[in-house]
Amino acid sequence: MSRKPKIIVFDLDYTLWPFWVDTHFTPPFKKKGSVIVDAHGKIIHCYKEVPAVLKRLSDEGYELGVASRTSEIQGANQLLNLFNWEQYFKYKEIYPGNKLTHFSKIQKASGNDYKDMIFFDDEHRNIVDVNKLGVTCIFVRDGVSHTVVENALKDF
Ligand SMILES: [Mg+2]
Repeated sequence: MSRKPKIIVFDLDYTLWPFWVDTHFTPPFKKKGSVIVDAHGKIIHCYKEVPAVLKRLSDEGYELGVASRTSEIQGANQLLNLFNWEQYFKYKEIYPGNKLTHFSKIQKASGNDYKDMIFFDDEHRNIVDVNKLGVTCIFVRDGVSHTVVENALKDF
């Protein structure tokens, strides 16, 4: 049997959704019918397969987390809530700064080793930093999808 990670952690901007939450949209965000809009009524989408990917990983028993260095902390949390993803994320570390901090908090809270974690991010600097801890880091080019996650879990 192949080895499996215990915790799967995702960046937010350009990993779960195709924008920077601190610059592309204006909070507060809200639901308008079935869509999510910003303060100017601009419609906000995540990457298409992300809701299904999160549901599946959660159903399969993985613990999921978020590590984002956005300065738009409130807006990011609002979106997690409006997308209905709060149910999936046991660990939420959302604040500016080096992601070594984010991961050290996840490690302490979970009691799991870094080697049992996998991390998806679109920024090279974060991959380099978090990789030093022994976390398996996956560079994401066009957002998280079923294929991206499946390949990463296969190679873990
Ligand atoms: Mg990002």
